[in-house]
This record gives sequence, C-alpha cells and structure tokens, in this order.
Amino acid sequence: MTAQIIDGKGFAAEVRQKVAGHVTRLREEHGLTPGLAVVLVGEDPASQVYVRAKGKATVEAGMESFEHRLDADTPEADLLALVEKLNKDPAVHGILVQLPLPEHIDSDLVINAIDPDKDVDGFHILNVGRLGTGQKSMVPCTPLGCLMMLRHHHGTLSGKEAVVIGRSNIVGKPMAHLLLGDSCTVTIAHSRTQDLPGVVRRADIVVAAVGRPGMVQGDWIKPGATVIDVGINRIEAPERGTNEDGSVKTRLVGDVDFDSAKDVAGAITPVPGGVGPMTIACLLANTVTACARANRLPEPEGLTA
Ligand code: NAD
Repeated sequence: MTAQIIDGKGFAAEVRQKVAGHVTRLREEHGLTPGLAVVLVGEDPASQVYVRAKGKATVEAGMESFEHRLDADTPEADLLALVEKLNKDPAVHGILVQLPLPEHIDSDLVINAIDPDKDVDGFHILNVGRLGTGQKSMVPCTPLGCLMMLRHHHGTLSGKEAVVIGRSNIVGKPMAHLLLGDSCTVTIAHSRTQDLPGVVRRADIVVAAVGRPGMVQGDWIKPGATVIDVGINRIEAPERGTNEDGSVKTRLVGDVDFDSAKDVAGAITPVPGGVGPMTIACLLANTVTACARANRLPEPEGLTA
C-alpha cells in the first residue's frame, strides 16, 4: 500500500481563504476588522521569523496586524502593562506573546495575564481547563490544525483508536483532548511508555509530537492508519553538499520515518508541507473566531474545534 499524502500546504491555503471570506463578511456586514497583536521580546532569530510570517499572513487575510517588539531586557512589569493595554483595546481581538520569553520573565504569569477570550494561542490556564472539560475555548493552533486535517480526511473520527505520542502542553495534551472530544479512544504515549511500537500498532490515528527525527518506524504502524507528523527536526543532509562556510547542508524531517511509513499507512502528512502550514492558518482562524465571539456573532463555520 502507498499512503495518500495529506497536503497540509494546500489545505492550509483553503483554510486561509475561508478565513479571508469571514473577514470580508465581518467588515461588510458588521463594520468589523479582526485584529491580531503579536508581542516579541528579544531577538531570538527563529521567533523573529515566526513573528514576521504571522504578521504577513494576518494582513493577507484582510485583518489588522499589530506588532510589538520589545528589547530583551524589558522588565516583566512593562510586558504585563502592554498585555493589559492590549486586553482593553477593542481593535485587538487576538493577542499572542511569542515564546520563549527571556529567562527573567515568568512565561506563565504573562500568558495568564492575557484576556482568555483574546488568547489565540490557547495557552491560558482557563482555556486549558475549558478544553479539558469540553467547554467552548480557544484551542492551541497546532493541534487544531491536526484535528481539521483529520476531520477533512475521515469525516467522523468517532470510535477510532488514536495514539498521541508526546504529552507537551502545547501539542500532545490538547491534541488528546480534541480527539477525545471527537469520540476517539485516546492513548497518550510518552518517553516512559513501555513497548511504544506495540502501543502505536493499535492506532487507527497516530499523531507524533516528539521532536525525534524519524523515530516512528513503518513497522510500528497498523496498515491503513492515518499518520499525522507534527515533528519538525533539522538534520544534516550531506547528500545536499556543503554551505559556503564549509558546513554540511541541512533539511527538515518529521518524527516519523516517512519512507517506511508511507508503504504501510493509509494516509500521512509530509514534513515539510504537512502540519506546519496549518499552524499559522489556525492562528488566523482563532483570531476570526475571537472577533466573532467578542461581538456576539455566530461562530465562523469550519474554523473551530
Ligand atoms: P516537547 O519537547 O515539549 O515534548 C516532547 C514529548 O515527547 C514529551 O512529552 C516526551 O514525553 C515525548 N518523548 C520524548 N522522547 C520520547 C520517546 N523516546 N518516546 C516517546 N515519547 C517521547 O515538544 P513539543 O513542543 O510537543 O514538540 C514536539 C515536536 O513537534 C517538535 O519537533 C516540535 O518542533 C514540533 N512542533 C511543530 C509544530 C508545527 O507547527 N508543526 C508546532 C509545535 C511543535
């Protein structure tokens, strides 16, 4: 069997188009423009790239983007004051504080200072609790993107055996709650799981969020299963030659050994081009949702959990 490759890039483009449609309707019918504020503290190069990409995608979807760049030595109190200002700003419907924050800042304190209804990352403790108890919440973008792809591929997920590998607060745990919400039978596997291959072999749906290149082997996968690979790992790729400075070129791979898995799975997401593009699309989706909820308008269809 050769797996169907789930085109995350194409699907993310569809989601972004849907978001743009909702944005147009909000503007034309209600005079509203959804606004996303992104706060970056310091000069972490990866964070700068993410923040730039988020701002660009926000504007492309017809929304307002507010970028706040603060020095690495910004006192915690100043950051909290900015968050408070954004909480009160009616033009801002979503607030995202880019992580990681510098060490002198308590990330939990800052995240939990965001108005939970503007918490488009879904990391506020109240949103974690809402998701865990099946209430309407802001859902973390990466697992929301995985759920959308799974629903799109399967229709209903009810009754399926799902194994999530990884128990982080940003991917593994919320993913498990979302699958449970769609009536899957869910197992969360992690670094202490006994017989991981045996556990994965039970699954109709495997979500790998570990951060270990190519860890999940093809012979761990039940024939026909759907495999969602969240991992983003940069590895050396000597076959691509060397850079000008003599260092070996690199490439991105997932947590799943794609070549062996694609011969067994029914469907699989590639890396890159799978889960990654869905994350930004879901950030835009969450911003539109937050804007609609703030104005007591109906939820935008197909963009929420
Ligand atoms: P994390 O380091 O916080 O958590 C990793 C989890 O994997 C832990 O819960 C740990 O128990 C588990 N684990 C570690 N070694 C294991 C092993 N040998 N067997 C079984 N489980 C093991 O990572 P994270 O933030 O959840 O991210 C996971 C991966 O997903 C990373 O590669 C990250 O880059 C990627 N990621 C991608 C996106 C995206 O947009 N596509 C978003 C977030 C994270």
